[in-house]
Formats: sequence, structure tokens, C-alpha cells
Amino acid sequence: MEYTKLVEVYEKLSATTKKLEKRDIVAEFIKNLNTEDLQIVIHLLQGKIFLESEEQEIGIADKLIIQALMKLGFSKPEVFDEFKETGDLGLVAEKLVKRKRQSALFKRKLSAEQVFYKIRELAGLTGKSSQAKKLNIILELLNSAEPKQTKYITRTILEELRLGVAEGIMRDAVAQAFEVSKEDVEYAYNLETDFGEVAGIAKEKGEDGLKNVRLELGRPIKVMLSEKAGNLKEALEDAKEPAIEIKYDGMRTLVQKNKDKIWLFTRRLENITKQFPDLVELCKKNILAEKAILEGETIGIDKETGKPIPFQELSKRIHRKYDIEKIAKEIPVQINFFDCLLVDKKQLLKESFGARRKKLEEIIKQVKGKFILAEQIRTKDLKPTEQFYKKALDSGQEGVMVKNLLAPYQPGKRVGYMYKVKPEKESLDLVITGAEWGKGRRANWLASFILSVRDEETGELLEIGKMGTGLTDEQFKEMTERLKPLILTEKENVLSIKPKIVIEVGYQELQKSPNYKSGFALRFPKLIRTREDKSVEEADTLERIKKIYKGEV
Ligand code: AMP
Repeated sequence: MEYTKLVEVYEKLSATTKKLEKRDIVAEFIKNLNTEDLQIVIHLLQGKIFLESEEQEIGIADKLIIQALMKLGFSKPEVFDEFKETGDLGLVAEKLVKRKRQSALFKRKLSAEQVFYKIRELAGLTGKSSQAKKLNIILELLNSAEPKQTKYITRTILEELRLGVAEGIMRDAVAQAFEVSKEDVEYAYNLETDFGEVAGIAKEKGEDGLKNVRLELGRPIKVMLSEKAGNLKEALEDAKEPAIEIKYDGMRTLVQKNKDKIWLFTRRLENITKQFPDLVELCKKNILAEKAILEGETIGIDKETGKPIPFQELSKRIHRKYDIEKIAKEIPVQINFFDCLLVDKKQLLKESFGARRKKLEEIIKQVKGKFILAEQIRTKDLKPTEQFYKKALDSGQEGVMVKNLLAPYQPGKRVGYMYKVKPEKESLDLVITGAEWGKGRRANWLASFILSVRDEETGELLEIGKMGTGLTDEQFKEMTERLKPLILTEKENVLSIKPKIVIEVGYQELQKSPNYKSGFALRFPKLIRTREDKSVEEADTLERIKKIYKGEV
């Protein structure tokens, strides 16, 4: 399919902020595509060249695009002046290329497929001459593109497409295009985690196909989410037939086994198998089934005391690409299994939690301090639950999970089968969208961070405050290193930052405020921790802020 056709759709999508209009535009476009184009088009519409589980990143920085534009014959001041003005290299590329070329000059027509696969090639290049090769690929693409196309190619390469086609809109568009129900699309998506695949199934096999999507080894799923309960009493009532478990403070881990092969995925669908060779070995030896899909919480353990360490420490292992064995020794882990979704040929999603736990107990050979079944009690009474809760907190864990033993497993949903109870007052998970350089001793660090909440309606990120406390010197340095590659624009001392990093923030008070776009401001926001496990789409919403403000949460 010609890339121009997709660009027309991009333009239409950019012209509206309304969810329903976006849904209609996408549905109308995808409904007549053949299955092959459909997959690529859906990924390009989402600006998603790789699935989270593919362990590949495009990884192109602004610098390389700027170099490419200079190679195309534009001068450094020309590029920089435009960039300073808009902060969007896509717009810069469009504007400059338009100045130079007439559309009549384009002989070859770019296809969507070419754009997709060329950008994928960028990620595979490593080693010495990889920068030059990457530059060549980018040049090749920009050279064969019309001005408008260069805008979207550039944005796609930089992963800044920002068309607001969020998951909910894509789900509704697929449902509308192929005349199937949203629920079936969502069900299939939670297991497939790829709208390209799901749209293909909807087109070829309709609702039956979607309903029959199954768990597959080697592919992550959207895990079941929990709801926050007001207190233990409410949680016990809501859970109906309660089992109470320790809420371990670590990283949710989806463990999959197929004979000798193990996969580990996070709740953000990232494949972290390579980073945890110690866990892989434990899984190989101590899961007593040929095939299995299990869930557990991995926590970091202090080598000396055997006690849990803060999540922040464990998170150092999640993105580590070198010295993996060394850090595995420095920060040993313990996995606490709490669910079982598949054993051998049997899929257990529809079984009750009680039955799933029984299966889990059958196939886990526990290893003291390392490979454990989540500690659980079963009672409807408040007294023993309170004692268990206290014990969880005293042992350094976060709180408890109260689960309904009769409930099935619902991928991707917060359905009331699982409640969390933890003591802290409402903290917020916010996105860093800006920062300021420090002064004096901190002159080389980013010392103040602009925080935003998510407007679920529009997908926009709205500022809610500025945070400069709660960080140690080491954390300031670390944060600076993480944010530097994400800097979009720099005006005087203030930077705008590509929204990628979610942090958990405590605060003294939530106030109404005209100073920030969200309409609210946080008094004395303070860093609790970075949420490596949360994506921007999972950050807190304006809706929740409003509820907290009204005292409804
Ligand atoms: P939160 O991240 O605060 O929304 O709490 C939910 C998270 O608690 C889950 O995603 C798990 O990572 C974690 N967790 C810790 N212990 C358990 C447990 N026993 N059962 C289920 N989830 C748990």
C-alpha cells in the first residue's frame, strides 16, 4: 500500500482531538485493507514498530536526524533555527524538504511496507559502522519521501507520532471496522497484546475467532489488575470468599515454561529473561510441569540479612544490559508465586482462584528464600486478617492482597477479584514531562522536574506540579542521566522532556490551581520511587485527581 494513503489518515487524525472521530477515521481506513497491509498499517498508526516483547528498540536520537537533514543539504543554522521554534523534528524535516523540492521530482512511490521494514532495520544495527548505516537508511527514506511524508517518517523513527490513537480507540475502531463486539476485541487483545494480530483475526474469523484466542507460550499477556480497597473490612466483604496474601513489594513477573525454555515478562510486556539468569535456572528446576504459565512477584533480597530491599534497588537489574551475572550476585532475588494460568495442555483462566492455587501448589517445588509460594491465609474474620496485615508490614512488605477464591482470571482487567490494602496515603503515579537545570552545586544536574497527569479523554498530559525534593544526590545524577536522551527542547533553563518516565510521588496537599494546565497543583511533591513497571498509559488520570480532591478515593 502506498505510504501517502496512510499519511492522509495521519493528517486527518492530527486534525481532531475527539475520540469518536479518531475511532471513525481509523475504522473507515482499516475496514477494506487486506490482512497483510492491515497488520503493518495498525502498527504504523500506533507508531509501534516493535512490540514490547520483541526486545528491540529503534533507538534513534534527535542528533542523528539532525545529521541526516544536514546531509540532505540543509545548513546547521537552518536546521537548528527551525528546531528551536517548533521542538518537532518532523515539522522541521517537512518544512525544509518543502523548500528544496518540488513534488514532481519524486519518481518512486514509497510503500507503507517499505517504511515499516526500513525503520525496523535501524534497530538491528550494532557495532562499529552502525551509526553510518543507520544514517544511510534514514537518508534513503527521507530522500524518497514527499515533504509531508518526511514529517511522519521522522516522527515514527523518533517514536513521537502522538496521534492519540490510544488502546481504547484502536479497540473500538477494530470492533467497528469488522462488526464485532468491543468486548471480544478486548479479550483477544489482552491475550495477544498486538492489535495487528487481533484485527487480522477479527477480519478473517470474526467473533468466534476472537473468543477462541488462547494463551500461547512465548507471548506475554495483559495481567489481571487489582483494585484498591478502603480498608481490610471492606476488602473481606468485597472478596466474598477471601484468601489473603502478602503484597510483596517488587516486580510482577509472568513466568512461562516450555520444557527447557523459560520466558520472563513484566506487566509492561517486556521480555526480561536475559536479565534474570538466576530466576531462569530456578524455574527450569523447580516448576514440575512440562509447560506452564505462572505469575509471581520478584523481590530483591539483601545478601547479608535476607530481608527484602526497596524496589528501587531491584529495578537496577531490569534494564541492565552488561555484567548481568555480576549484578545477579550483588542483588539476589526471590520469587513469590501467586497464580497459575496454564499447566501442560490445560488453560486455567476460567477456573476459580482456589483451583488455580491448588495447581500452583502441585507444580512448585519451593526453595527456601528463593522460590516460594505467596504466603496465604483463608478467613472471613477481621481479627486474623489484621494480624496477617501487621505481619506483612513488619516483615518489610507493602500490605496485603485480598482475593476471591471463587473468581476466574480476567486478563487486563480490574474486576473486583483482587483487592489491595496498603497503609500509605494516596500517592500518585505521574509522568515527567519537563525539567530544569539546577544551580550552584547542582548546576550539572536536572534539579526540578515537571510532573503531569494523563487526560484519559484526549491522551494529553497535563502539568500538575514541580518536584525538587525527595531525591538523594545519587538519584539526582541517575535521573539526569535517564532524562538527558529524552530532552525535546530547551528554552533558557527549562527543558521539555519526552514522556517516558513514570514516578510515584507523595505530597502534602492537592489544591486547585490556575497555574497548571490540569487545573490542580501539588503542594510539596516528593519522590517516592520511579515506577519502572508502569508505562505512561498507566499513569494516574485527571479523573482520579478530581476524585482524590473531592475525597472520594
Ligand atoms: P499496585 O502496583 O499498587 O497497583 O498493586 C498491584 C501489584 O501488587 C501487582 O501488579 C503485583 O505486582 C503486586 N503483588 C505483590 N504481591 C502480590 C500477590 N500476592 N498477589 C498479586 N499481586 C501481588
